[in-house]
Amino acid sequence: MSALELYDLTAHEVHDKLASGETSSKEVTESVLRRIEKVEPSIQSYMLVTADRALEQAEQADARRRAGECIGPLDGVPIALKDLLCTRGLPTTCSSKILENFVPPYDATVVERVSSAGCVALGKTNLDEFAMGSSTENSAFQVTRNPWGLDRVPGGSSGGSGAAVAAGECLVALGSDTGGSIRQPASFCGIVGMKPTYGRVSRYGLVAFASSLDQIGPMTKDVRDCALLLQVISGHDSMDSTSADIDVPDFTAALERDVKGRRAGVVKELMGEGIDADVREAVEQAIGTLEDLGVTCEEVSLPHCRYSLATYYLIAPAEASSNLARYDGVRYGHRTAERVEDIVDMFSKTRGEGFGPEVRLRIMLGTYALSAGYYDAYYVKALKVRTLIKRDCEKAFEHCDVLISPTSPTVAFEVGERADDPLQMKMADLCTMFGNLAGLPGISVPCGFSDGLPVGLQIVGKAFDEETVLRVAYAYEQAAGYHRERPVVGG
Ligand code: GLN
Repeated sequence: MSALELYDLTAHEVHDKLASGETSSKEVTESVLRRIEKVEPSIQSYMLVTADRALEQAEQADARRRAGECIGPLDGVPIALKDLLCTRGLPTTCSSKILENFVPPYDATVVERVSSAGCVALGKTNLDEFAMGSSTENSAFQVTRNPWGLDRVPGGSSGGSGAAVAAGECLVALGSDTGGSIRQPASFCGIVGMKPTYGRVSRYGLVAFASSLDQIGPMTKDVRDCALLLQVISGHDSMDSTSADIDVPDFTAALERDVKGRRAGVVKELMGEGIDADVREAVEQAIGTLEDLGVTCEEVSLPHCRYSLATYYLIAPAEASSNLARYDGVRYGHRTAERVEDIVDMFSKTRGEGFGPEVRLRIMLGTYALSAGYYDAYYVKALKVRTLIKRDCEKAFEHCDVLISPTSPTVAFEVGERADDPLQMKMADLCTMFGNLAGLPGISVPCGFSDGLPVGLQIVGKAFDEETVLRVAYAYEQAAGYHRERPVVGG
């Protein structure tokens, strides 16, 4: 095997090389920028690459280090940001025409935090428009390809971030997850992705999709990097009233703790019908590995889990229809250039031109579910089922420390394959949505391959117990070793 290039390394490996003086942040950043130049024409992860700014930030990180003022483990590490995180002075499009020219006057809290930790921001990554989708095909601008097979989708909606990490176009990335949008692309791209507990990470400056479900989280090459990045972005923020004012533990310290005697519940409903045989097999093997490590694995049932897709597709569009009302051609972004009769005509033409078909569909579904005649029958009912799903999880956690399932029922599908099959498209999040509805932390770690495409193992924990999730994920990853595999892009 040829020696790994700098862009192939993890953030903690780069940190060690920076600390020993073996390399500089500038060299690492240059390596990643060259990699972007080489593979970006075929992958198309990025909406925007800010090379000059990145090199400047890298030089600053190197100067800090020379002066003995290194800020921490991510100082000088290149990061990519999903393009629905507000960045001061830089376009934040949400991969939507309606925000094509939107330049926020402020940074999202997570953007500020990674910058204060010394990270080098490389640019903004592609997504399904407003994070609505599972393949990144709903971007208004470009289709991102999966580094493991260019005819395949990278998953979504954080497909740009997922593909960028997998292809070595950044060392770590941030994504957001409303129904699976970090974990599912992580699974498709063979990387680690974590949705923290609802409230763990501030969403100030995250363009809202469904506010009771959205969380920001890390997408990385291994679990240690995930813990390091989660450490930086976690914690209370007075600018987000839903961020929890509770202590943030030392996540990397949690990695080293023994997993012997931990109890894992294998979710019965997510191991049967609808799950590809190859995926199930990989997860079963992972369960065997966990058992070898001393984790007790037993089947558990989440009886209402099978309603999670239906519940999600009432609650998420309902919230989206309200959150997206602000794009009216007055306060933000695009306004129609057509002749208009009155203000209602202006709204309608602006929104008709600015939003893509999936977003328009969600707004209509959500408005319908919230309308006077249907509110109780649909929206309120969905809230009740959400409570039942939450209770199922609480009950399961009486007997176990983590829940285990595949991250997605299949490996990455072909570009275009599900474009005309909305149900199949939505099934990609079958295993992840209960975690959002219950507000729980969940991670996806690589657990094998099917026909050369990565499979992901999902580990979900109790609210605010990211430590146990990371600890089990780390023990598994170290024993299994799939995180060391890298795709040969275009090969
Ligand atoms: N695929 C789901 C959707 O389309 C979830 C997206 C997400 O988590 N942002 O809504």
